[in-house]
Amino acid sequence: MSDFLKEAQDLFPYTQAMRRDFHIHPELGFQEIRTSGIVAKELEELGLEVTKGVGKTGVVGYLDGAKPGPTLLLRFDMDALPIHEETGAEYSSTNPGVMHACGHDGHTAIGLTVAKILTKHKDQLSGNVKFCFQPSEEGTNGEEVGGNLMMIRDGVLENPKVEKTLSLHLWNSQPLGWIHAGGGPMMAGAEAFTLKLTGKGGHGAAPDSTIDPIVCAAQIVTALQTVVARNVNPLKPAVISVTSIQSGKAFNVIPQTAELLGTIRTFDEETRALVLKRFEEIVRGISASMNCEVEIALQQVTAPVINNPEVATSVAKSAKQVFPQTEIASQTYLTMGAEDMGWMQEKVDGCYFYIGSANAEKNLTYGHHHPKFDFDEQALINGVALMSAAAADLLK
Ligand SMILES: [Zn+2]
Ligand SMILES: [Zn+2]
Repeated sequence: MSDFLKEAQDLFPYTQAMRRDFHIHPELGFQEIRTSGIVAKELEELGLEVTKGVGKTGVVGYLDGAKPGPTLLLRFDMDALPIHEETGAEYSSTNPGVMHACGHDGHTAIGLTVAKILTKHKDQLSGNVKFCFQPSEEGTNGEEVGGNLMMIRDGVLENPKVEKTLSLHLWNSQPLGWIHAGGGPMMAGAEAFTLKLTGKGGHGAAPDSTIDPIVCAAQIVTALQTVVARNVNPLKPAVISVTSIQSGKAFNVIPQTAELLGTIRTFDEETRALVLKRFEEIVRGISASMNCEVEIALQQVTAPVINNPEVATSVAKSAKQVFPQTEIASQTYLTMGAEDMGWMQEKVDGCYFYIGSANAEKNLTYGHHHPKFDFDEQALINGVALMSAAAADLLK
């Protein structure tokens, strides 16, 4: 059997150099021009069949295994966030206000290294690999949909048809060495909502001659809390958060309109349908009772990430072989955060696994999306080794 951990260790200088280069030059979603250019060049140098512009700035490298078999898609996201970096690291962002604060620089570097390793082993592969470098995981960034759905619409799951997917996330909520590969739900499905309330503006001292959208908005925010508290089964996770209220500018003017933004998170379709129904009933009911008009815009941001039990078991088995000293976590590990791999995993069986990346001794414990977020680069080795082994094992 191949020693993927040793190969990942040997290639660490490459992985680290690529990661730091991406970190120094972060790019926002659908603007990953430099990043995807480097990715395409590296994949071409390996002799892979490379397709650019899949989902705008996405890149796909195709590796034809020596023997016939299924097609496996490995997904690596490439985008950065609109955050100004405060790590003080020598490889800090040189793009002001833009930062790799989620670890996608590491994911891209891991993907390129895995491509090197699996290309070297292509004689042993029964099947094919699509190395899928995805743009804009963090949001739609002004486009109609995010990177994962955009790549699906551009046909990344077809020709040849993808039968399984693997993807990973470096995970700073857990220490270096922790590895999770388990079946079932992983990350919540997410909706984004916008509510536009229209009342009747007027003098702040004459509320009786107005229809106050602020009072209406306040009632809606309060009443929405009852959906999770009083409608959803207490054993089922769900979230409704109102994250923005914009209305009014002056102390003596009751404004005409109020706009609310927020998000809804659920794991299963039954809970989702219930929450969406109650959400709309409450918003429309309170607006009507307050004489406000309301426009509701709801967008499904992503489906939940649900791991296929068989693929997850295979990944956990690979993990045990690569890291014999480590106890691989496989128990339910839910987060209400969302991840757009949910779209691909809704269509194709897959496993999304976590690689612990925090290190308290090196003060690398800040959470994802924090301006001081950074991870222990040794986690890159674990990510490369496990992704390579898990892919090779699925194409045995
Ligand atoms: Zn993120
Ligand atoms: Zn992320």
